[in-house]
Amino acid sequence: TKSKTNEIIDQTSKYGANNYHPLPVVIAEAEGAWVKDPEGNEYMDMLSAYSAVNQGHRHPKIIEALKNQADRVTLTSRAFHNDQLGPFYEKVSKLTGKDMVLPMNTGAEAVETAIKAARRWAYDQKGVQENQAEIIACEGNFHGRTMTAVSLSSDPDNKQGFGPMLPGIKVFPYGDVKALKEAITPNTAAFLLEPIQGEAGIVLPPEGFLKEAYEVCKDENVLFIADEIQSGLARTGKMFACDWEEVTPDMYILGKALGGGVMPISCVVANEDVLGVFNPGSHGSTFGGNPLASAVSVAALQVIEDEKLVERSLELGEYFQAKLKKIDNPVIKEVRGKGLFVGVELHEPARSYCEALKQEGLLCKETHENVIRFAPPLVIKQEDLDWAIEKIYQVFAK
Ligand code: PLP
Repeated sequence: TKSKTNEIIDQTSKYGANNYHPLPVVIAEAEGAWVKDPEGNEYMDMLSAYSAVNQGHRHPKIIEALKNQADRVTLTSRAFHNDQLGPFYEKVSKLTGKDMVLPMNTGAEAVETAIKAARRWAYDQKGVQENQAEIIACEGNFHGRTMTAVSLSSDPDNKQGFGPMLPGIKVFPYGDVKALKEAITPNTAAFLLEPIQGEAGIVLPPEGFLKEAYEVCKDENVLFIADEIQSGLARTGKMFACDWEEVTPDMYILGKALGGGVMPISCVVANEDVLGVFNPGSHGSTFGGNPLASAVSVAALQVIEDEKLVERSLELGEYFQAKLKKIDNPVIKEVRGKGLFVGVELHEPARSYCEALKQEGLLCKETHENVIRFAPPLVIKQEDLDWAIEKIYQVFAK
């Protein structure tokens, strides 16, 4: 007879669109850094839902906030106020040091919001002529799957068959300040970047790039927008990856761990000169800023502070990377990252290594063919990380 796992995989492939290629494992339960399949096999989660579960699966404080709020009110739409949105705004504003917050649900929607804000800012504040605003993005970027996000992408696979693309976009080589300068014109509204590129395979820009690029943007009156959806909220051993170069972007885009892996919630954060361009009717979302997600997010951000996840990520990340660098196997090309945001680049496709790691009880996913991303929940215990390191050593000893 078929196992429950195989039953579910068959059902999923029979009825679902084929837009993912998951590892053959079904997760039925989870807690902290650990997940379980329907047969009761345990695995360590080394992906954290692409960093949406930085606080660990089902953190008790976040689940408590979810349950309490579920018993009071879950959705009002923005036609009325709700009593959870104000506290959420204040929390995010204090965390980022910015005046204003605009809430959405998914990361891609927040990217859309940032682009809309930047375009309107260009017309209203910078004086760019109607319909001429340009956005500069980086080669290798990943900003999501909506039409705007795929229009920004330099990966033909993301765009193939989806044209026509959004106009007014320029892409230049990530990390090259000179090329950035050349790409800027009087019509440039914003420069959008990931301070560390996640989906590209944990790609770090050359040291100094963030700061220099920020200064170029200031000189040219161009908004510097940081997509910190994956790199933000403690993942890299700083609250925001931009903190590594002490850069405060004009706009932060946040998502993923903002909802503690419990509710989808994203937002754009900026000062009033930028986000003030929106007026009633110009932008919105039915679920954006809903009380359930707002309450969950306040708890999720509180957990990051209370459990010192920034410091944990930094310390455990340095320890983990040092151990990975000691693996003696010529298939490994490079170990890189910041905090617990780690990529191991191989000289060959990473898929079979991810499958072997799964056999050992470790769940990770290849990104960009040759890179294994290790990004465990930041609440991971030292002893669990040591267990994982042992398994990784075993797989690379073979
Ligand atoms: N931006 C970055 C940097 C991301 O890593 C992602 C998701 O992986 C997104 C945007 C898109 O977020 P979502 O999948 O919630 O739309």
